[in-house]
Amino acid sequence: MALKRRIFFSSKSIWLGFACAVSVSCASTGESSFREVAVEPDPPHECGFCERLNEPSEPFQIYGDTYYVGTAMISSVLIASDDALVLVNGGMTQTAQQIADNIKELGFSLADLKLIVNTHAHFDHAGGIAALARATGAKVAASARGAEALEQGRPTEDDPQRGLVENVFPPVPEVQIIADGATVSAGEIELTAHYTPAHTPGSVAWTWRSCEDEGCLDIVFADSFSTRSAPEFRFTGGADYQGRIETFRNAIQTVAALPCDILLTPSPLSFGVKEKLAARSENPDTNPFIDSGACAAYAEKAEAGLEKRIAEEQTAQ
Ligand SMILES: [Zn+2]
Repeated sequence: MALKRRIFFSSKSIWLGFACAVSVSCASTGESSFREVAVEPDPPHECGFCERLNEPSEPFQIYGDTYYVGTAMISSVLIASDDALVLVNGGMTQTAQQIADNIKELGFSLADLKLIVNTHAHFDHAGGIAALARATGAKVAASARGAEALEQGRPTEDDPQRGLVENVFPPVPEVQIIADGATVSAGEIELTAHYTPAHTPGSVAWTWRSCEDEGCLDIVFADSFSTRSAPEFRFTGGADYQGRIETFRNAIQTVAALPCDILLTPSPLSFGVKEKLAARSENPDTNPFIDSGACAAYAEKAEAGLEKRIAEEQTAQ
């Protein structure tokens, strides 16, 4: 199974990936490597579509030290250096074990997880963070508003989805705030936070560079720009929300302007994981995840989605 999965990799990576599966020397090599840590999951999140969201996915290499370790419907991404692992997003509460298993299947040790960052604090991307941080001692980092939501285990007062009853998750006791434009590091891995307040007030696009022999690329894990909200919420309405549309548009433009060779998003559907894996399977010498136009295209779709939402709110008035 492992070999079958790794034929998706570029030819050089096939062997690196395979070697990592049988040797500790090329995975994280700190003293903690392959010390087993157990995840004690929080109670599973209950919702009508949760089972579908948590449908398992094989982990796979995206590029260089960047790997997909999420479910078939919710993205979590691992960045792996010789001295640390970093995770972006933690799925739902019941996804924590799946992420841990995927990390192990790639040949890494969960004990080496040093940092977890979050693009936005909703139940489907932040639910597993508390259990993974507890198991590993990993530091958790987010934007200022993201940290507020993570520490209280529910969206902030001004979050469009605040009123949705399902949107709660296990609180994360201690979250480090990373300022807009600032960096956070674990070992050799360095990520930059770009605040993109839109889908939530605390939304962040995280960027880093990943390298292979062929060169280094700019990776962007942009947040969702979905305008899904609680029924009573209006992006266009109320004194509390003045400037909200402009803030949303600016957030979209922030992502459009980022150096971007590979786009990742909280939903694997939004960056075409299934199609790209199929294309890579057909031609293993190519990497369809590399697409320098992906961030601009994502921003264009987000703009269209926002305009549609504005029109709907105006019609409903
Ligand atoms: Zn969300």
